[in-house]
Amino acid sequence: MTTLDRITPIRELPIESKRVFIRVDFNVPLEDGKITDDARIASALPTIKHAASRGARVILASHMGRPKKGPEESLSLAPCGERLSELLGMDIPMPEDCVGDAAKKVVYDLRGGQVCLLENLRFHAEEEKDDETFAAQLAALCDVYVDDAFGAVHRAHASVHALPKMMKERGCGFLLETEIAALGKMITAPEKPFVAVLGGAKVSDKIAVLDSLLEKVDALVIGGAMANTFLAAKGVNMKASKIEEDKLPLARTIMEKAQAKKVELLLPLDVVVAGSIAAESGTVVGLGEIADHMMALDVGPKSLEAFGKLFAKAKSIFWNGPMGLFEKAPFANGTFTVARMLADADAFTVIGGGDSAAAVKEAGPEVAAKMKHISTGGGASLELIEGKKLPGIEVLRR
Ligand code: ADP
Ligand code: MG
Repeated sequence: MTTLDRITPIRELPIESKRVFIRVDFNVPLEDGKITDDARIASALPTIKHAASRGARVILASHMGRPKKGPEESLSLAPCGERLSELLGMDIPMPEDCVGDAAKKVVYDLRGGQVCLLENLRFHAEEEKDDETFAAQLAALCDVYVDDAFGAVHRAHASVHALPKMMKERGCGFLLETEIAALGKMITAPEKPFVAVLGGAKVSDKIAVLDSLLEKVDALVIGGAMANTFLAAKGVNMKASKIEEDKLPLARTIMEKAQAKKVELLLPLDVVVAGSIAAESGTVVGLGEIADHMMALDVGPKSLEAFGKLFAKAKSIFWNGPMGLFEKAPFANGTFTVARMLADADAFTVIGGGDSAAAVKEAGPEVAAKMKHISTGGGASLELIEGKKLPGIEVLRR
């Protein structure tokens, strides 16, 4: 299913002196044309270095942002090419387009061990349409296809779907391999007890994730604004807090399902409240003490203690969704404490989701380093956990 079955890892592909197309995810955050976080480039380095060291002629391709129609200078991959050139200590030629004569010229001039970076794939609307003619133009540039862009495999776009479909030699890079192995383990063969921690902004974003995890976990911890909806469904005063009124029946159904499946469902026992999200500090209160005008913005210490007891017994822990409004310091304690507890847990710990991964990194480099796996794909990681088949992964199977 979501395992690595019949997917050839780059180590086993015949790449020596071949033109190897590596689909990477260089969709990095930019501010005024400067890269503010190059983690995505860094995480593709092992695959790029491996291919170059085996004498491959390496063709890198990625998307960047959402260009409306045609090329947009602000969404050029040029800053990524420069950064990569610094990281690898070599020149990275960049043709002005990802297909056509300019691309061919650069690609055909590559010698073994050299690396080039094509321009933003989405400058062609055909990329997002999974267009076969466009894919064939990319295919004409290369002999072997390697996907290492986990953040893009949930979309059937030309560079991750139509292109590999037409390539005989195809497989995955190290990053994609690690992602599929770690997330796949969570849903196919998690070591028990398996605890999932869910939080974040909305229940409605995560219904399919909740449903899938309920089938597999021994315990489910719910925090964040998501927990507010569950608490409201149990009659807790959430008048001023962020909840989803129309999801109250769903929350009740989920609680009943958990009970029927003997899944321990742990909601916050106390919360941090404030009159506004701009407040300079919050107050810890019990569930019966939330005043009408107060918003629940984080989980409290009693909750964290109870969560910690579950984490201590767990052998596998999957976490998605911050425990509170962690972007504001007075409401970050719950999220950062959970991050530290998972880092120290004696369990296989996997983090999925864009904001969750950002929160773990913000909790500190030593915290992030101790997690077994922090997924680089927000949407893709959750779709894998939902048990969906992702087009960019399925197409790689032999
Ligand atoms: P992920 O990207 O990891 O899947 P989400 O996008 O679901 O996570 O949720 C992240 C957002 O949820 C954060 O911006 C965080 O501030 C917000 N959030 C979490 N708990 C609360 C809360 N109690 N009140 C308001 N916002 C919250
Ligand atoms: Mg998010």
